[in-house]
Amino acid sequence: MIVDCHTHWGMVWEDRDQGNPSERLKVLDRYHVGKAYLLGHYNLHRCDFAREDNDRLADITRQKPERFIPFGSVWPQMGAEAVFEARRCLDGLGLKGLKFHPWLQGFSMGDPILGEICAMAGELKAPVFFHDGTPCYSLPEQVAGLARRFPDNRFVLGHAGLLWSWRSALEALQLPNVWACLCGPHMRAIEVLCREASPDRLLWGTDFGFGFSDPVDYRLSLFMRANVEDDLRNQILEENPLRLFDF
Ligand SMILES: [Zn+2]
Repeated sequence: MIVDCHTHWGMVWEDRDQGNPSERLKVLDRYHVGKAYLLGHYNLHRCDFAREDNDRLADITRQKPERFIPFGSVWPQMGAEAVFEARRCLDGLGLKGLKFHPWLQGFSMGDPILGEICAMAGELKAPVFFHDGTPCYSLPEQVAGLARRFPDNRFVLGHAGLLWSWRSALEALQLPNVWACLCGPHMRAIEVLCREASPDRLLWGTDFGFGFSDPVDYRLSLFMRANVEDDLRNQILEENPLRLFDF
């Protein structure tokens, strides 16, 4: 079973399908993607939409619990309210992790509230997933800094550095609590990451769902054609994605 570790319930999807995942599942089925990490989009777009979008991700997952692994988001700028909402996501709604997009959401990884949230998520054994690969707020080095400060939690580089920072992602992966999702690097970078990084902490994903375009075909073809050992490829597509939550 393939697990796509980077998909979004995009705003255009919500506006059209109103929380109904059946069209979404058709696309996943086409590529034999059995499960998908489900990140929000409205919750990354505006702070006053976050709570509602977190509820929505929980509701979509309730409809197809075997297909989705949901991640909520909050805005550290909201202070104590953000910490409260993050705990509600994990403890109340049953979301499996938190996702942050500091570049889009406009906060620094040094934000003290983000630190509080990372510590709390670590206690609840909920991994923290980051957009990465874009300066000035979303560099792999900055995620590595958080991983060093909070060794009890796991941190995911959602793009393994994207096209430009994959070498930094490789460096960050030296930390035992940093994971990386191969969603962005070019084929040669994917090959080097698979050869040099810990095989137990690599994931694969597509960023599918931000809009209506279908990047699954491209990203899956890229990964299938990369020069990667079959055993490792299967481990990345099937085993690692579920082990992320097994602290
Ligand atoms: Zn994304």
